[in-house]
Amino acid sequence: MDEDFIGIKNAAISFILEAEDLKSLEETKLQFLGKSGKLTLAIKGITKLPVEKRPAFGILANEVKNAIENALEQQEKILSQKRKSVLLKKIDVTNPGNKPLLGNLHLVTQAIEEISEIFKRIGFARIRYPEIDWDYYAFTSLNFPENHPARDDWETFFIKADPDKKMGRQVLSPHTSSGQVREMEKNKLPIKMLNIAKCYRRQSDVSHTPMFHQFEGLVVDKNISITHLKGTLDYFVKSYFGKERKSRIRPYHFQFTEPSFEVDVTCGVCNGYGCRLCKAGWLEMGGAGIVHPNVLKAGGIDPQKYSGFAFGWGVERVLMMKQGLELDDLRLLYSNDLRFLEQF
Ligand SMILES: [Zn+2]
Repeated sequence: MDEDFIGIKNAAISFILEAEDLKSLEETKLQFLGKSGKLTLAIKGITKLPVEKRPAFGILANEVKNAIENALEQQEKILSQKRKSVLLKKIDVTNPGNKPLLGNLHLVTQAIEEISEIFKRIGFARIRYPEIDWDYYAFTSLNFPENHPARDDWETFFIKADPDKKMGRQVLSPHTSSGQVREMEKNKLPIKMLNIAKCYRRQSDVSHTPMFHQFEGLVVDKNISITHLKGTLDYFVKSYFGKERKSRIRPYHFQFTEPSFEVDVTCGVCNGYGCRLCKAGWLEMGGAGIVHPNVLKAGGIDPQKYSGFAFGWGVERVLMMKQGLELDDLRLLYSNDLRFLEQF
């Protein structure tokens, strides 16, 4: 039995020293120390010996095992070092690296990040409200009369579910303005929120898609006036489109603001001189206005003490206005054609 253990040790060590790579070293390890390895089986054999002989063989077996393990460890170090130096010789550090296949953020996601960042700098907090909302938040609380055309099935997507007595039917939020009264109901004044979200309407042509994104600003505080609105618009237009761009407001009508305005920005293609793309030098960006007293009341705010302004613009729309002629069909943004998307 003595000779067996010494033989196993010598055989193992010679194999270990001959191993030329880590793989054959691992094979040698299994051959001797694995479940049915030579040493493992020999150790099992000890239990068949008479009891008085067992301790001596146990000690011997242990010594052999340690010797094999030490040899394995030494050889592994040598082989790892060898592999490293071979690899280094193969690598030409002056070669350009392999460019990993990285995706890039979707054009709309990039625009949302940029818009959020611009408004964050002047203290607007980004807020999110449900995509499926109640008619109450989408229309009633915003001063829409019962028979307003926006509530028509042809304008808004309604959810097939039982209506709620106070809240009415459920809708796919048709605009980010649904967040206005929700924000007021938090009962924290002053308000300076930016709600960027998906909106849904029954529409589809070169400049409209059934799903689109809006960003909505709402400011409510004491003594808020049109001057604050105009200053905020100018700041956004110059930050997003460029210092040379100008904004203007035109009277308009919306249910939830009074007075209401359409906001225009000078055309980036002709710089305001007038071209094929614009109307005499100006492009329409979207709506804005001073919050209607009825909307403040719906949010539990006293219109005698507080006032506010709001604006809501399409993310895709401002994106198209920034990109100019490169983006003449809004539907391209959602057709998932990588040849188009990878350009940005
Ligand atoms: Zn133009």
